Amino acid sequence: MHFPPTFSRFAVALVILLSSAIGSAQPDFLAGAKPIVAAPPDPVVARALEAIQPANIEQTIKALVGFGTRNTLSSMETDLPPGQGINAAADWVAAQFERIAQQCGGCLEVHRDTFTEPAAGRIPQPTTITNIYAILRGADPSEAKRMVLVTGHYDSRITNVMDARGAAPGANDDASGVAVSLECARALSKLHLPSTVVFVAVAGEEQGLNGSSHLAKLAHSEGWQLEAVLNNDIVGGNTTPGDTLQFKDRVRVFSEGVPTAATPEQARRMRALGQENDSPSRELARAIADTARTYFPAASGTAFAPVLVFRPDRYLRGGDHTSFNREGFAAVRFTEWREDFNHQHQNIVIPEAGSKDPILGDLIQFVDFNYVANVARLNAATLATLALSPGEPANVTIVTKNLDNGTTLHWDPPAGAGAGIHYELLWRETSAPDWQFSQTVAPQTDGGQATVTVPISKDNVIFAVRAVDTSGHRGLPVVP
Ligand SMILES: [Zn+2]
Repeated sequence: MHFPPTFSRFAVALVILLSSAIGSAQPDFLAGAKPIVAAPPDPVVARALEAIQPANIEQTIKALVGFGTRNTLSSMETDLPPGQGINAAADWVAAQFERIAQQCGGCLEVHRDTFTEPAAGRIPQPTTITNIYAILRGADPSEAKRMVLVTGHYDSRITNVMDARGAAPGANDDASGVAVSLECARALSKLHLPSTVVFVAVAGEEQGLNGSSHLAKLAHSEGWQLEAVLNNDIVGGNTTPGDTLQFKDRVRVFSEGVPTAATPEQARRMRALGQENDSPSRELARAIADTARTYFPAASGTAFAPVLVFRPDRYLRGGDHTSFNREGFAAVRFTEWREDFNHQHQNIVIPEAGSKDPILGDLIQFVDFNYVANVARLNAATLATLALSPGEPANVTIVTKNLDNGTTLHWDPPAGAGAGIHYELLWRETSAPDWQFSQTVAPQTDGGQATVTVPISKDNVIFAVRAVDTSGHRGLPVVP
Protein backbone atom coordinates (compact mmCIF):
# COMPACT_ATOMS: atom_id res chain seq x y z
CA MET A 1 0.00 0.00 0.00
CA HIS A 2 1.21 3.46 -0.78
CA PHE A 3 0.11 6.17 1.62
CA PRO A 4 0.22 9.75 0.41
CA PRO A 5 3.08 11.67 2.06
CA THR A 6 0.62 13.70 4.11
CA PHE A 7 -0.38 10.54 5.98
CA SER A 8 2.84 10.16 7.95
CA ARG A 9 2.94 13.86 8.85
CA PHE A 10 -0.63 13.63 10.06
CA ALA A 11 0.26 10.59 12.19
CA VAL A 12 3.26 12.42 13.70
CA ALA A 13 1.16 15.50 14.53
CA LEU A 14 -1.43 13.22 16.14
CA VAL A 15 1.23 11.51 18.30
CA ILE A 16 2.47 14.90 19.53
CA LEU A 17 -1.05 16.15 20.17
CA LEU A 18 -2.15 13.04 22.06
CA SER A 19 1.02 12.97 24.14
CA SER A 20 0.62 16.58 25.23
CA ALA A 21 -3.08 15.98 25.97
CA ILE A 22 -2.23 13.00 28.16
CA GLY A 23 0.03 15.19 30.24
CA SER A 24 3.51 14.76 31.55
CA ALA A 25 4.13 11.16 30.47
CA GLN A 26 5.40 11.62 26.96
CA PRO A 27 8.36 9.83 25.44
CA ASP A 28 11.60 11.79 25.62
CA PHE A 29 11.86 11.88 21.81
CA LEU A 30 8.92 14.29 21.67
CA ALA A 31 10.86 16.92 23.65
CA GLY A 32 11.01 20.04 21.48
CA ALA A 33 9.77 17.99 18.52
CA LYS A 34 8.01 19.65 15.62
CA PRO A 35 6.62 17.47 12.82
CA ILE A 36 8.47 17.86 9.54
CA VAL A 37 6.59 20.29 7.30
CA ALA A 38 7.22 21.20 3.68
CA ALA A 39 9.64 24.06 3.06
CA PRO A 40 8.08 27.09 1.37
CA PRO A 41 8.48 26.96 -2.42
CA ASP A 42 11.05 29.37 -3.82
CA PRO A 43 9.12 31.49 -6.36
CA VAL A 44 12.22 31.84 -8.55
CA VAL A 45 12.64 28.06 -8.73
CA ALA A 46 8.90 27.57 -9.32
CA ARG A 47 9.07 29.99 -12.26
CA ALA A 48 12.13 28.22 -13.71
CA LEU A 49 10.24 24.92 -13.61
CA GLU A 50 7.72 26.39 -16.05
CA ALA A 51 10.39 26.09 -18.77
CA ILE A 52 9.93 22.31 -18.58
CA GLN A 53 7.30 21.44 -21.17
CA PRO A 54 6.04 18.12 -22.54
CA ALA A 55 6.45 19.48 -26.09
CA ASN A 56 10.23 19.87 -25.59
CA ILE A 57 10.40 16.34 -24.23
CA GLU A 58 8.48 14.95 -27.19
CA GLN A 59 10.87 16.74 -29.56
CA THR A 60 13.93 15.30 -27.76
CA ILE A 61 12.66 11.73 -27.74
CA LYS A 62 11.51 11.94 -31.39
CA ALA A 63 14.93 13.21 -32.44
CA LEU A 64 16.76 10.47 -30.50
CA VAL A 65 14.50 7.73 -31.90
CA GLY A 66 15.22 9.15 -35.36
CA PHE A 67 18.85 7.96 -35.25
CA GLY A 68 17.66 4.40 -36.00
CA THR A 69 19.97 2.79 -33.49
CA ARG A 70 21.93 4.28 -30.62
CA ASN A 71 23.62 1.00 -29.74
CA THR A 72 27.04 1.94 -28.34
CA LEU A 73 28.78 -0.49 -30.72
CA SER A 74 27.37 1.44 -33.71
CA SER A 75 30.10 4.06 -33.10
CA MET A 76 32.47 1.67 -34.92
CA GLU A 77 30.17 0.98 -37.91
CA THR A 78 31.64 3.07 -40.74
CA ASP A 79 29.00 2.43 -43.40
CA LEU A 80 25.79 3.51 -41.64
CA PRO A 81 23.56 5.89 -43.63
CA PRO A 82 24.17 9.55 -42.76
CA GLY A 83 22.32 10.67 -39.64
CA GLN A 84 22.09 7.13 -38.25
CA GLY A 85 23.86 5.55 -35.29
CA ILE A 86 25.17 6.72 -31.95
CA ASN A 87 27.80 9.16 -33.26
CA ALA A 88 25.08 11.20 -34.97
CA ALA A 89 23.05 11.06 -31.74
CA ALA A 90 26.06 12.35 -29.76
CA ASP A 91 26.41 15.30 -32.16
CA TRP A 92 22.73 16.08 -31.72
CA VAL A 93 22.80 15.97 -27.89
CA ALA A 94 25.89 18.22 -27.78
CA ALA A 95 24.17 20.66 -30.16
CA GLN A 96 21.14 20.83 -27.83
CA PHE A 97 23.33 21.77 -24.86
CA GLU A 98 25.09 24.36 -27.09
CA ARG A 99 21.72 25.83 -28.04
CA ILE A 100 20.66 26.15 -24.42
CA ALA A 101 24.06 27.74 -23.69
CA GLN A 102 23.50 30.33 -26.44
CA GLN A 103 20.16 31.25 -24.89
CA CYS A 104 21.77 32.00 -21.51
CA GLY A 105 24.71 34.03 -22.78
CA GLY A 106 27.13 31.09 -22.75
CA CYS A 107 26.30 30.05 -19.18
CA LEU A 108 26.96 26.35 -19.93
CA GLU A 109 30.38 24.80 -20.64
CA VAL A 110 29.62 21.93 -23.02
CA HIS A 111 32.06 19.00 -22.91
CA ARG A 112 32.43 16.00 -25.21
CA ASP A 113 34.54 13.36 -23.54
CA THR A 114 35.46 10.70 -26.12
CA PHE A 115 37.50 7.70 -25.01
CA THR A 116 38.23 4.16 -26.19
CA GLU A 117 36.79 1.34 -24.12
CA PRO A 118 38.98 -1.76 -24.42
CA ALA A 119 37.42 -5.05 -25.58
CA ALA A 120 35.77 -6.98 -22.72
CA GLY A 121 32.38 -8.54 -22.02
CA ARG A 122 29.80 -6.78 -24.17
CA ILE A 123 32.50 -4.73 -25.99
CA PRO A 124 33.81 -7.05 -28.78
CA GLN A 125 36.52 -4.68 -30.04
CA PRO A 126 38.09 -1.44 -28.74
CA THR A 127 35.13 0.95 -29.02
CA THR A 128 34.78 4.70 -29.07
CA ILE A 129 32.39 5.99 -26.39
CA THR A 130 31.38 9.63 -25.96
CA ASN A 131 29.95 11.22 -22.82
CA ILE A 132 28.39 14.64 -23.24
CA TYR A 133 27.95 16.98 -20.32
CA ALA A 134 27.26 20.64 -19.69
CA ILE A 135 28.46 22.48 -16.60
CA LEU A 136 26.55 25.41 -15.12
CA ARG A 137 29.28 26.92 -12.91
CA GLY A 138 28.21 28.22 -9.53
CA ALA A 139 28.04 32.02 -9.34
CA ASP A 140 29.47 32.18 -5.79
CA PRO A 141 33.26 31.62 -5.82
CA SER A 142 33.22 30.12 -2.31
CA GLU A 143 30.38 27.68 -3.21
CA ALA A 144 31.18 26.86 -6.84
CA LYS A 145 33.16 23.75 -5.87
CA ARG A 146 29.99 22.11 -4.58
CA MET A 147 28.24 20.17 -7.34
CA VAL A 148 25.04 18.29 -8.08
CA LEU A 149 24.55 16.20 -11.23
CA VAL A 150 21.70 14.79 -13.32
CA THR A 151 22.24 12.02 -15.87
CA GLY A 152 20.53 9.75 -18.40
CA HIS A 153 21.97 7.38 -21.01
CA TYR A 154 21.54 8.06 -24.71
CA ASP A 155 22.62 4.61 -25.92
CA SER A 156 19.95 1.97 -26.67
CA ARG A 157 19.69 -1.74 -27.38
CA ILE A 158 17.43 -4.48 -28.72
CA THR A 159 17.11 -8.19 -27.88
CA ASN A 160 20.74 -8.91 -28.78
CA VAL A 161 22.80 -6.29 -26.96
CA MET A 162 25.64 -6.91 -29.44
CA ASP A 163 23.48 -5.95 -32.45
CA ALA A 164 24.98 -2.65 -33.62
CA ARG A 165 22.68 -2.13 -36.62
CA GLY A 166 19.10 -3.26 -35.89
CA ALA A 167 16.45 -0.58 -35.20
CA ALA A 168 16.74 0.28 -31.49
CA PRO A 169 14.47 3.28 -30.77
CA GLY A 170 15.09 3.29 -26.98
CA ALA A 171 12.30 5.84 -26.49
CA ASN A 172 11.74 5.03 -22.83
CA ASP A 173 15.14 3.37 -22.18
CA ASP A 174 16.58 5.88 -22.10
CA ALA A 175 15.71 8.78 -24.40
CA SER A 176 13.30 9.73 -21.57
CA GLY A 177 16.23 10.14 -19.14
CA VAL A 178 18.23 12.21 -21.64
CA ALA A 179 15.15 14.43 -22.04
CA VAL A 180 15.18 14.96 -18.25
CA SER A 181 18.85 16.09 -18.35
CA LEU A 182 18.13 18.50 -21.21
CA GLU A 183 15.00 19.91 -19.54
CA CYS A 184 16.89 20.44 -16.27
CA ALA A 185 19.55 22.36 -18.25
CA ARG A 186 16.86 24.41 -19.99
CA ALA A 187 15.16 25.30 -16.69
CA LEU A 188 18.16 25.83 -14.40
CA SER A 189 20.25 27.81 -16.91
CA LYS A 190 17.74 30.60 -16.23
CA LEU A 191 18.89 30.79 -12.58
CA HIS A 192 21.99 32.19 -10.91
CA LEU A 193 22.80 29.34 -8.58
CA PRO A 194 25.65 29.72 -6.07
CA SER A 195 26.99 26.18 -6.57
CA THR A 196 27.55 24.10 -9.69
CA VAL A 197 25.13 21.85 -11.62
CA VAL A 198 26.23 19.26 -14.20
CA PHE A 199 23.81 17.95 -16.89
CA VAL A 200 24.89 14.65 -18.40
CA ALA A 201 24.12 12.18 -21.21
CA VAL A 202 26.32 9.06 -21.14
CA ALA A 203 26.70 6.10 -23.50
CA GLY A 204 27.73 2.48 -22.92
CA GLU A 205 25.09 1.89 -20.21
CA GLU A 206 23.70 -1.21 -21.93
CA GLN A 207 27.17 -2.64 -22.62
CA GLY A 208 28.21 -2.39 -18.95
CA LEU A 209 27.84 1.12 -17.48
CA ASN A 210 30.99 2.12 -19.40
CA GLY A 211 30.22 5.81 -19.89
CA SER A 212 29.07 6.47 -16.33
CA SER A 213 31.97 4.48 -14.92
CA HIS A 214 34.39 6.63 -16.92
CA LEU A 215 32.71 9.85 -15.74
CA ALA A 216 32.45 8.77 -12.08
CA LYS A 217 36.17 7.88 -12.04
CA LEU A 218 36.98 11.24 -13.64
CA ALA A 219 34.87 13.01 -10.97
CA HIS A 220 36.67 11.06 -8.24
CA SER A 221 40.18 11.66 -9.62
CA GLU A 222 39.51 15.37 -10.17
CA GLY A 223 38.05 15.73 -6.68
CA TRP A 224 34.58 16.88 -7.75
CA GLN A 225 32.59 17.71 -4.60
CA LEU A 226 29.49 15.90 -5.84
CA GLU A 227 26.75 16.06 -3.21
CA ALA A 228 24.06 14.39 -5.30
CA VAL A 229 23.74 12.34 -8.49
CA LEU A 230 20.27 11.85 -9.97
CA ASN A 231 20.11 9.06 -12.55
CA ASN A 232 16.98 8.94 -14.70
CA ASP A 233 16.56 5.66 -16.53
CA ILE A 234 13.17 4.51 -17.89
CA VAL A 235 11.08 7.48 -16.77
CA GLY A 236 8.66 7.43 -19.72
CA GLY A 237 5.56 6.50 -17.69
CA ASN A 238 4.96 3.57 -20.02
CA THR A 239 1.49 3.91 -21.50
CA THR A 240 0.33 0.55 -22.80
CA PRO A 241 -3.37 0.29 -23.68
CA GLY A 242 -5.13 -1.89 -21.11
CA ASP A 243 -2.46 -1.55 -18.39
CA THR A 244 -4.44 -0.55 -15.31
CA LEU A 245 -1.54 -0.88 -12.87
CA GLN A 246 0.61 1.95 -14.17
CA PHE A 247 0.27 4.97 -11.86
CA LYS A 248 1.23 8.39 -13.19
CA ASP A 249 1.31 10.13 -9.81
CA ARG A 250 4.53 8.49 -8.63
CA VAL A 251 8.08 7.68 -9.63
CA ARG A 252 10.31 5.16 -7.90
CA VAL A 253 13.58 6.38 -6.38
CA PHE A 254 16.03 3.56 -5.66
CA SER A 255 18.87 4.09 -3.16
CA GLU A 256 21.58 1.86 -1.75
CA GLY A 257 21.71 0.94 1.97
CA VAL A 258 25.22 0.15 3.21
CA PRO A 259 27.32 2.12 0.69
CA THR A 260 28.99 0.09 -2.05
CA ALA A 261 32.15 2.09 -1.37
CA ALA A 262 32.18 1.56 2.42
CA THR A 263 35.42 0.08 3.75
CA PRO A 264 35.05 -3.06 5.91
CA GLU A 265 35.62 -0.87 9.00
CA GLN A 266 32.93 1.62 7.93
CA ALA A 267 30.50 -1.24 7.22
CA ARG A 268 31.27 -2.75 10.64
CA ARG A 269 30.47 0.55 12.34
CA MET A 270 27.22 0.91 10.39
CA ARG A 271 26.15 -2.57 11.46
CA ALA A 272 27.08 -1.85 15.08
CA LEU A 273 25.07 1.40 15.16
CA GLY A 274 22.10 0.28 13.05
CA GLN A 275 22.96 2.78 10.32
CA GLU A 276 22.33 0.46 7.37
CA ASN A 277 19.36 2.66 6.43
CA ASP A 278 21.23 5.97 6.46
CA SER A 279 23.69 6.00 3.59
CA PRO A 280 24.24 9.41 1.94
CA SER A 281 22.30 8.04 -1.06
CA ARG A 282 19.31 7.31 1.16
CA GLU A 283 19.44 10.78 2.72
CA LEU A 284 19.41 12.10 -0.85
CA ALA A 285 16.32 9.99 -1.60
CA ARG A 286 14.60 11.44 1.50
CA ALA A 287 15.58 14.96 0.38
CA ILE A 288 13.91 14.29 -2.99
CA ALA A 289 10.71 13.34 -1.13
CA ASP A 290 11.07 16.55 0.90
CA THR A 291 11.39 18.60 -2.31
CA ALA A 292 8.31 16.93 -3.77
CA ARG A 293 6.25 18.03 -0.74
CA THR A 294 7.29 21.62 -1.49
CA TYR A 295 6.79 21.73 -5.27
CA PHE A 296 4.00 19.14 -5.68
CA PRO A 297 1.87 19.85 -2.59
CA ALA A 298 -1.10 17.54 -2.12
CA ALA A 299 -3.49 20.48 -2.53
CA SER A 300 -2.04 21.57 -5.89
CA GLY A 301 -4.06 19.16 -7.99
CA THR A 302 -0.83 17.83 -9.54
CA ALA A 303 -0.32 14.81 -7.35
CA PHE A 304 3.21 13.59 -7.96
CA ALA A 305 5.61 12.08 -5.46
CA PRO A 306 8.58 9.76 -5.31
CA VAL A 307 8.14 6.30 -3.82
CA LEU A 308 11.36 5.55 -1.99
CA VAL A 309 12.55 2.02 -2.67
CA PHE A 310 15.19 1.02 -0.17
CA ARG A 311 17.33 -1.14 -2.46
CA PRO A 312 20.02 -0.18 -4.97
CA ASP A 313 18.06 -1.20 -8.05
CA ARG A 314 15.43 -3.60 -9.40
CA TYR A 315 15.99 -7.39 -9.56
CA LEU A 316 18.35 -8.44 -12.37
CA ARG A 317 18.99 -4.82 -13.37
CA GLY A 318 21.62 -2.14 -12.95
CA GLY A 319 22.12 1.48 -13.81
CA ASP A 320 24.50 4.42 -14.03
CA HIS A 321 23.95 5.55 -10.41
CA THR A 322 25.87 2.42 -9.38
CA SER A 323 29.02 3.73 -11.11
CA PHE A 324 28.82 6.82 -8.88
CA ASN A 325 28.06 4.76 -5.75
CA ARG A 326 31.22 2.73 -6.48
CA GLU A 327 33.27 5.93 -6.43
CA GLY A 328 31.77 6.94 -3.07
CA PHE A 329 29.15 9.46 -4.25
CA ALA A 330 25.51 9.75 -3.14
CA ALA A 331 23.52 8.62 -6.19
CA VAL A 332 19.96 7.40 -6.76
CA ARG A 333 17.89 6.06 -9.64
CA PHE A 334 14.51 7.37 -10.86
CA THR A 335 12.35 4.81 -12.73
CA GLU A 336 8.65 4.78 -13.64
CA TRP A 337 6.27 2.99 -11.27
CA ARG A 338 5.66 -0.11 -13.39
CA GLU A 339 7.77 -1.23 -16.34
CA ASP A 340 6.45 -3.06 -19.39
CA PHE A 341 9.14 -5.49 -20.46
CA ASN A 342 7.58 -5.86 -23.92
CA HIS A 343 8.75 -2.31 -24.52
CA GLN A 344 12.35 -2.58 -23.35
CA HIS A 345 15.40 -4.30 -24.86
CA GLN A 346 13.21 -5.90 -27.59
CA ASN A 347 13.37 -6.19 -31.36
CA ILE A 348 10.42 -4.32 -32.84
CA VAL A 349 7.54 -6.67 -33.70
CA ILE A 350 4.21 -5.26 -34.92
CA PRO A 351 1.65 -8.10 -35.00
CA GLU A 352 -0.79 -8.38 -37.88
CA ALA A 353 -4.12 -6.60 -37.54
CA GLY A 354 -6.53 -8.61 -35.36
CA SER A 355 -3.73 -10.53 -33.61
CA LYS A 356 -3.84 -10.77 -29.82
CA ASP A 357 -0.04 -10.69 -29.62
CA PRO A 358 1.44 -7.58 -28.03
CA ILE A 359 3.47 -5.00 -29.91
CA LEU A 360 7.13 -5.42 -29.01
CA GLY A 361 9.75 -2.68 -28.96
CA ASP A 362 10.72 0.47 -27.07
CA LEU A 363 8.54 2.72 -29.24
CA ILE A 364 7.72 6.38 -28.72
CA GLN A 365 3.98 5.65 -28.78
CA PHE A 366 4.29 4.20 -25.27
CA VAL A 367 5.93 7.29 -23.74
CA ASP A 368 3.84 9.80 -21.77
CA PHE A 369 5.50 13.21 -22.25
CA ASN A 370 3.46 14.78 -19.42
CA TYR A 371 4.79 12.13 -17.07
CA VAL A 372 8.41 12.71 -18.14
CA ALA A 373 7.83 16.44 -17.57
CA ASN A 374 6.81 15.79 -13.95
CA VAL A 375 9.90 13.65 -13.41
CA ALA A 376 12.03 16.44 -14.92
CA ARG A 377 10.38 19.06 -12.67
CA LEU A 378 11.09 16.97 -9.57
CA ASN A 379 14.72 16.53 -10.67
CA ALA A 380 15.16 20.24 -11.43
CA ALA A 381 13.53 21.31 -8.15
CA THR A 382 15.82 18.96 -6.20
CA LEU A 383 18.96 20.15 -8.03
CA ALA A 384 18.02 23.82 -7.53
CA THR A 385 17.15 23.36 -3.84
CA LEU A 386 20.44 21.60 -3.10
CA ALA A 387 22.45 24.07 -5.20
CA LEU A 388 20.84 27.01 -3.36
CA SER A 389 21.21 25.40 0.07
CA PRO A 390 24.22 26.02 2.33
CA GLY A 391 25.51 22.46 1.73
CA GLU A 392 26.28 19.75 4.24
CA PRO A 393 27.58 20.22 7.80
CA ALA A 394 31.00 18.54 8.11
CA ASN A 395 32.49 16.24 10.76
CA VAL A 396 29.13 15.57 12.39
CA THR A 397 29.73 13.47 15.51
CA ILE A 398 27.69 12.26 18.45
CA VAL A 399 29.34 12.22 21.87
CA THR A 400 29.51 8.71 23.29
CA LYS A 401 31.89 9.13 26.24
CA ASN A 402 29.38 8.39 28.99
CA LEU A 403 26.30 6.26 29.46
CA ASP A 404 23.47 8.79 29.66
CA ASN A 405 19.99 9.48 28.37
CA GLY A 406 20.76 12.73 26.58
CA THR A 407 22.44 13.44 23.26
CA THR A 408 25.24 15.86 22.39
CA LEU A 409 26.19 16.50 18.77
CA HIS A 410 29.15 18.38 17.29
CA TRP A 411 29.67 19.61 13.72
CA ASP A 412 31.54 22.08 11.56
CA PRO A 413 29.71 24.56 9.32
CA PRO A 414 29.45 23.56 5.64
CA ALA A 415 32.59 24.66 3.78
CA GLY A 416 32.08 28.00 2.04
CA ALA A 417 28.68 28.63 3.62
CA GLY A 418 27.83 32.30 4.09
CA ALA A 419 26.37 34.07 7.11
CA GLY A 420 22.73 33.80 8.09
CA ILE A 421 22.38 30.03 7.85
CA HIS A 422 20.78 28.05 10.61
CA TYR A 423 20.66 24.39 11.59
CA GLU A 424 17.89 21.89 12.06
CA LEU A 425 18.22 18.78 14.12
CA LEU A 426 16.18 15.98 12.53
CA TRP A 427 15.30 12.67 14.12
CA ARG A 428 13.12 9.65 13.70
CA GLU A 429 12.40 6.40 15.48
CA THR A 430 14.70 3.64 14.26
CA SER A 431 11.82 1.83 12.53
CA ALA A 432 10.51 4.93 10.71
CA PRO A 433 11.41 5.19 7.01
CA ASP A 434 11.67 8.99 6.84
CA TRP A 435 12.49 11.88 9.18
CA GLN A 436 9.65 12.47 11.66
CA PHE A 437 10.72 15.38 13.86
CA SER A 438 12.76 18.53 13.62
CA GLN A 439 13.95 21.29 15.88
CA THR A 440 15.71 24.50 14.90
CA VAL A 441 18.78 24.62 17.11
CA ALA A 442 21.03 27.46 18.21
CA PRO A 443 24.32 25.65 18.70
CA GLN A 444 26.99 26.76 21.18
CA THR A 445 30.52 26.99 19.87
CA ASP A 446 32.97 24.58 21.43
CA GLY A 447 36.56 24.81 20.19
CA GLY A 448 35.36 26.14 16.81
CA GLN A 449 32.75 23.39 16.46
CA ALA A 450 29.01 23.84 16.77
CA THR A 451 27.57 21.80 19.62
CA VAL A 452 24.08 21.12 20.84
CA THR A 453 22.62 18.92 23.58
CA VAL A 454 19.03 17.63 23.69
CA PRO A 455 17.29 15.55 26.39
CA ILE A 456 16.55 12.73 23.95
CA SER A 457 18.12 9.29 24.18
CA LYS A 458 20.39 8.57 21.22
CA ASP A 459 19.67 4.87 21.77
CA ASN A 460 16.08 5.10 20.54
CA VAL A 461 16.21 7.45 17.56
CA ILE A 462 18.42 8.33 14.59
CA PHE A 463 19.66 11.94 14.48
CA ALA A 464 20.82 14.10 11.60
CA VAL A 465 21.82 17.74 11.20
CA ARG A 466 21.04 19.87 8.18
CA ALA A 467 21.91 23.45 7.24
CA VAL A 468 19.18 25.80 6.00
CA ASP A 469 19.52 29.27 4.50
CA THR A 470 17.37 32.32 5.28
CA SER A 471 15.02 31.52 2.35
CA GLY A 472 14.42 28.00 3.61
CA HIS A 473 16.58 26.04 1.14
CA ARG A 474 17.43 22.84 2.96
CA GLY A 475 20.78 21.11 2.52
CA LEU A 476 21.21 17.35 2.75
CA PRO A 477 20.88 15.93 6.27
CA VAL A 478 24.06 14.40 7.67
CA VAL A 479 23.89 11.53 10.16
CA PRO A 480 26.70 11.46 12.76
ZN1 LIG B 1 18.43 2.04 -19.27
